[in-house]
Amino acid sequence: MIKVENISKTFGDFHALKNVSLEVLTGEKVVVCGPSGSGKSTLIRCINGLERHDEGLIEVADNRLTHTSSSLRAVRSSVGMVFQQFNLFPHLTVKQNLTLGPVRTRKLSQPDADKLAMAYLERVRIPEQADKFPRQLSGGQQQRVAIARSLCMEPQIMLFDEPTSALDPEMINEVLDVMSELAGSGMTMICVTHEMGFAKRVADTMVFMDHGEIVEKAPPEQFFSNPGTERCRDFLSKIL
Ligand code: ATP
Ligand code: MG
Repeated sequence: MIKVENISKTFGDFHALKNVSLEVLTGEKVVVCGPSGSGKSTLIRCINGLERHDEGLIEVADNRLTHTSSSLRAVRSSVGMVFQQFNLFPHLTVKQNLTLGPVRTRKLSQPDADKLAMAYLERVRIPEQADKFPRQLSGGQQQRVAIARSLCMEPQIMLFDEPTSALDPEMINEVLDVMSELAGSGMTMICVTHEMGFAKRVADTMVFMDHGEIVEKAPPEQFFSNPGTERCRDFLSKIL
């Protein structure tokens, strides 16, 4: 479903990604962790074309990412992304946030988009918030709106970049629960997160990044019980 082959990315003379390769199968859940500045966000952003990789190959749902507008469109229509900051449109209601993309991009009628929006708001368990504005919601509710908004575009793949790290502790679980349910529904997912309880429950594959490289990639049982590198062991001992 996703193929990343030997990609590199530099910002000026800083090497943010060095020869990174990663394959993600349909339905696979990959959790990416690693220290601040290790390149996790850059990798995720390259996969949906928000950053342009300098070298290597990226294929997403059979589309080769070439940064022509048609290739970007193809990749972005198959990938949903949820960020640490919820990035909701503040001047639109929750329901309007959800229907904008489907009406504009997927050419749904407004009534069909409204129905779709309500179905996904049910799924993230906040249908009663449909007519509120983002600022009237808690952080956890806003993040669930952001997830529902992505799902309204019916992506084949969901990318999460530290979706709970801006939330108060008591709101983290309500977002992780929604993500776990989504994982259970068979969605292909890459999640950058340091919520290791979630990772243990949901991940098929754990990836550890450091200094722009994938240092370790293993199933969770092995990753947590017997990390293969000193760097990874050291990192896990700090966060677990
Ligand atoms: P964090 O855990 O703090 O989110 P990260 O692993 O997601 O870290 P990235 O955001 O991918 O790290 O950044 C990797 C490195 O690339 C960092 O050193 C960062 O400063 C640098 N970097 C990222 N984006 C840019 C940019 N647009 N211009 C210059 N440098 C950048
Ligand atoms: Mg980041």
